[in-house]
Amino acid sequence: MFSFDNSYARLPQSFHRPARPAVARAPRLIRFNRALAAELGLDVEGVSEARLAQVLSGQVIPVGAQPLAQAYAGHQFGHFNPQLGDGRALLLGEVLDREGRRRDIQLKGSGPTAFSRNGDGMAALGPVLREYIVSEAFAALGVPATRALAAVSTGEQVIRETVLPGAVFTRVAASHIRVGTFQFFAAQGDEEAVKTLADHVIDRHYPEARASDNPYLAMLTLVAERQARLIARWLSIGFIHGVMNTDNMAISGETIDFGPCAFLDEYDPRKVFSSIDQRGRYAYANQPGIGQWNIARLAECLLPLIDADEDKALEAANGVLKAFGDVFQAEWLALFAAKLGVAGEGADDRLLVSDFLELMHQGEADFTLTFRALSKVAGGADVVVLTEFFTVPQPGLAEWLTRWRVRIDDGRPPFERQAAMEAVNPALIPRNHRIEEAIAAAVYNDFSFFHRLVDALAAPYAEDPDTADLRLAPKPEERVTRTFCGT
Ligand code: AMP
Ligand code: MG
Repeated sequence: MFSFDNSYARLPQSFHRPARPAVARAPRLIRFNRALAAELGLDVEGVSEARLAQVLSGQVIPVGAQPLAQAYAGHQFGHFNPQLGDGRALLLGEVLDREGRRRDIQLKGSGPTAFSRNGDGMAALGPVLREYIVSEAFAALGVPATRALAAVSTGEQVIRETVLPGAVFTRVAASHIRVGTFQFFAAQGDEEAVKTLADHVIDRHYPEARASDNPYLAMLTLVAERQARLIARWLSIGFIHGVMNTDNMAISGETIDFGPCAFLDEYDPRKVFSSIDQRGRYAYANQPGIGQWNIARLAECLLPLIDADEDKALEAANGVLKAFGDVFQAEWLALFAAKLGVAGEGADDRLLVSDFLELMHQGEADFTLTFRALSKVAGGADVVVLTEFFTVPQPGLAEWLTRWRVRIDDGRPPFERQAAMEAVNPALIPRNHRIEEAIAAAVYNDFSFFHRLVDALAAPYAEDPDTADLRLAPKPEERVTRTFCGT
């Protein structure tokens, strides 16, 4: 089924531990992503669903797989934990996809490993479905993220606050190397391993860094830039990761570990959903600052590789942190200007964006629907299609609209401008309440809404009448105010 080529397994023993999947008595395929399987070049022609369920729950180890748990450390809510690692996941192996890109195939929720500590290594159905839904929504939105190959129910029970059905999620990533992977070795003072890991990362993700006279500094710069762009993308779709610990930040620049993640309903920069984020460390608007903080932790690990002279290494690393800020600011402005339909660069664009966001904040306006409605206004629709989303009417909106109209007037026909705006302002996102609805039904063995939601999210920029209900903001009684890791 897979043509594995396992480069991570070839790294020294300290990087990983062998892992064995747990027994699942009644594995059943919930969903298999055939389009992704084709992209990965998997040979699934004629393979039965039962067989897929066996393989994708770890009951049958495919030929060439070398199941292993990866070692990593990480700062969790600012506190360093020197030993985390894959406690409920294992890397089956790596494949080279149709375009020759190396991709990890990982089973998540497949039982305990050497790194499980007190955990059971299992995943409950809910978090598996959430990760499936959001991963595939991100793919359709064009935001870099790990992908969902499959979800399988195991027939096993998982004990959390209540007894829940167990499941295994098959995740595909450019790699699962995290900031915390570097920290694992750096904390032990194992400079040799840090170098080995850095070389692996350069070969795998940033080959262009080799051409630099300081490849490790170049790698750090590229990681920082990709992360800065990623977080700008998150903000542009109202995404709150919820648990941006350094072990949940991928070196590849993909969004990873969708635990208590959520999307904004009404715009509020201080919004937090995660039940474990009591101080709002990972609030919506804190994400760029936290991303930079995490990159600083990565930089610390790399200092000895960057320059033997510590002062010089520090100076170079500080330059990277500044670059992170610059890249984020530029990307954020470009994305939000595009959301407003603004072409080119104007001196007051940043203010135009932030004033609109402030009106949305005061007006408790739904983030997604408001930008979508603004696109329609740009196309000539009456402003009521916009103002209806302002729960608290904003007298300042009229003046803002006047400024905006002047700024966007570049001779383009309105329908063109609307189309350009609608191509960057999704109509459909994975609404928190819809994710919960899909999970709630699935726990009772009804996967129809889960499938409908995943199917609909494949076209986030369209306004298909059949999915109109999925685009609505939650009614007061449907609102999700808290999300949980569910580990
Ligand atoms: P995460 O919530 O994905 O950021 O996980 C943080 C750490 O806890 C990682 O090392 C996980 O492998 C570990 N972990 C989370 N849930 C479990 C579980 N059910 N069993 C074992 N380890 C877990
Ligand atoms: Mg994690």
